[in-house]
Amino acid sequence: MIADRRVSALRRRLGDSGLSAILVSGIANVRYLTGFEDVFDGEANVALVLTDQVARLYTDSRYSEACEIAADGTPWRVHVPKESVYTELCNDLDADGLKGLAIEASVPYGRFKFISEKFGGRVEVVDQWVEEIRRTKESGEIERMAAAAELADRAFGHILDRLVPGVTEAQIALELEVHMRSHGSEGVAFEPLVASGPNSSRPHARVSSRPLEAGDLVTMDFGARVRGYCSDMTRTVVMGAATPRQAEIYAAVLDAQVSAIDAVKSGVPGLKIDAVARDLLTERGFGEYFGHGLGHGVGLDVHELPSVSSRARESVLAGAVITIEPGVYVPGFGGVRIEDLVLVEDGGCRVLSCAPKHLIQI
Ligand code: ZN
Ligand code: ZN
Repeated sequence: MIADRRVSALRRRLGDSGLSAILVSGIANVRYLTGFEDVFDGEANVALVLTDQVARLYTDSRYSEACEIAADGTPWRVHVPKESVYTELCNDLDADGLKGLAIEASVPYGRFKFISEKFGGRVEVVDQWVEEIRRTKESGEIERMAAAAELADRAFGHILDRLVPGVTEAQIALELEVHMRSHGSEGVAFEPLVASGPNSSRPHARVSSRPLEAGDLVTMDFGARVRGYCSDMTRTVVMGAATPRQAEIYAAVLDAQVSAIDAVKSGVPGLKIDAVARDLLTERGFGEYFGHGLGHGVGLDVHELPSVSSRARESVLAGAVITIEPGVYVPGFGGVRIEDLVLVEDGGCRVLSCAPKHLIQI
């Protein structure tokens, strides 16, 4: 069973640390470790306690039935405390006689304080233990992400006919979402971003009610979600014939993106891949307009490990799914970003996003 491999990996990490238990409450991490599907929403009150002997899941009555069914045949024992999840959890830790507890760095401070005061043993904050296991994907995870990427590709093909002067950014964002959801996406990976004209110079502009106008650059950044797993893609088009400046920027971003993808293979540090795109944009005179990192890992979360930026010393490894998304953003003029989802392989990579990347002039 897949989740067993994940639990074993976390137990090894725990064993190496000298701590006797880890508490995991990040929803994506809980979902990953248990393998439970269609059980937890973003609000779920759930916590896992893992030791070398026990695998306990604590939750409240809203999730208990679904958890009991999902846990059948797995090592997870479901606990539904009458009072607070964390009160019972701490009582159980004390009853087990455990001495040291690892807690994820992402827990809210109030919860950390409560547990530190209630639990009799040592509490130590640990960072990214589960996320580091999540950073390379199994074949089943990759299949879901490829399916999510395909849903985004199809939504892009669909939206091109609807990009006409007068339609607003908000209408396009909604149409992208409706198309992905009506073709099988569970919600969206994140709120679609649509930035037109001068708004396109802001990498994460809020979607507005601005109507598209002739001459606009229009950047659309969106992703679908299939059985928990995200895709992430950006395309930029021009409303009408591109000006020489728009075409020059587009060509530079596309060349940077394609060159960086060519550099992706298992064992290459993220910063080296980032440098391929950054150096090319600098050579073309646009270096100062590319402020963000080149890419990020994607999985159950749309932003996860590994990082692909100028600070990422860590190598990308076969099985990681990352984005490659250089952009040029000229304030007052507009911006271009092109983003693909890419599976890292030994000796190369496989691009999961298949929507066209040539300059589309609507
Ligand atoms: Zn994106
Ligand atoms: Zn992205």
